Amino acid sequence: MRAAVVVGAGIGGLAAAGALARSGWKVTLLERDDRLRPGRAALVLWPNGVRALRALGLAAGLEGISTPVPPAGIRKPDGSWLVPPGVADIDSPPVVVHREDLHDAFIANLGEQVDVRGGVAVQSARVHRDRPAVGDGRVTFEGDLVVAADGPDSAIRRRLAAASTFASAGFAAWRAVIPWYRAPELPSGLPAHGELLGAGQRFGYASLGERGSAGGSTRGGIYWVATVPGALRPEPPAGQLALLRRWFAGWHAPVAQLLAATEADDLVQEPVGELAPLPDTFGPVAGSGGYALIGDAAHAMPHHLAQGASLALEDVATLQTVLAGGAVPAALAEYNRLRRPRILRVLQHSKKAASVLQQRSRFARVNPRTLERAAAAATEWAGPTG
Ligand SMILES: Cc1cc2nc3c(=O)[nH]c(=O)nc-3n(C[C@H](O)[C@H](O)[C@H](O)COP(=O)(O)OP(=O)(O)OC[C@H]3O[C@@H](n4cnc5c(N)ncnc54)[C@H](O)[C@@H]3O)c2cc1C
Repeated sequence: MRAAVVVGAGIGGLAAAGALARSGWKVTLLERDDRLRPGRAALVLWPNGVRALRALGLAAGLEGISTPVPPAGIRKPDGSWLVPPGVADIDSPPVVVHREDLHDAFIANLGEQVDVRGGVAVQSARVHRDRPAVGDGRVTFEGDLVVAADGPDSAIRRRLAAASTFASAGFAAWRAVIPWYRAPELPSGLPAHGELLGAGQRFGYASLGERGSAGGSTRGGIYWVATVPGALRPEPPAGQLALLRRWFAGWHAPVAQLLAATEADDLVQEPVGELAPLPDTFGPVAGSGGYALIGDAAHAMPHHLAQGASLALEDVATLQTVLAGGAVPAALAEYNRLRRPRILRVLQHSKKAASVLQQRSRFARVNPRTLERAAAAATEWAGPTG
């Protein structure tokens, strides 16, 4: 039986561990936190991400935990339209899903075959022996394949592709879900989701529905994400929330209502950054096996296109398919061949979207075609074999 070590239990790592176990691999999943915790808040999954979930056999039940978010236009802070609804249209809309619901679905699909080890912070990766191996300074974990799913600051990538570093894009971001029992009623006439943009600041929100209204989901509430120029804030969450309320004061509804209903514990602050340069390969070979870099460990990018999780799922679906073909080194070469051009294309469009969405001028103009083309390029993924 082939053995895999998956490092990191975020979206990419959980999906990879389940997919490999279902394909007959003996899987050890290592996570630095003591237990497997869902990422906080919510995220948007685009049709390419849903296609990848389907390829992985994980899409059943998605409808029950997700809410469609068709394009609803972009407003200026004063409420007037930068991009009116219906202008930057897309063929199939994304969905928004509570991360706890997604996490539960992935955990349910891990099965019995995955050996989960919490509290293991991987520090080293071995390349010059007959098989790849990683260690946390106490224990070494060896396999035919190591999947590096340890996020933007990946310790494995630092060892295998030292030149690639995660650098700030000059923005910080906050996400929160206001739970259903505290969520304010949105003013009448406002859609259940929307986006506002002004002088480099961006605020998006989406309703996750009433408690349980999305079928299987019990979470509900309202998700919002705010992006602001500058570095991560050192203040405790209550201080960060006070700053957000000040920065977004006077913005059109429902921004103030949502920030007023948010509590400090709801808030997650995250850096906005990009991995550059990309690693030379996403599939470095080590002896008779090798490493697969997936998700943010391989290609972290700013969240303009909300594609990080969808791309991680594409990585996993591709990896599962190429590994079915035979020897690990050949499969990793094929993995890199399929993923690299795809990621470069999405990155190129992410940069174009940044030129629209990160304008710091009060008089910013938005070319809706740039956003339309970026969304089309990002969602065009046809499946694991390209
Ligand atoms: C503000 C914001 C909004 C976003 N919105 C969206 C969105 O709407 N849609 C979307 O698709 N994407 C979105 N993203 C991007 C998305 O969140 C990420 O791309 C995605 O979570 C990456 O998943 P991952 O599994 O690769 O990495 P991560 O989620 O970072 O998971 C890495 C895991 O590895 C563990 N780990 C780290 N180091 C080690 C170690 N040394 N040893 C062991 N374990 C380790 C971590 O604890 C973690 O569990 C957004 C990002 C930001 C910042």
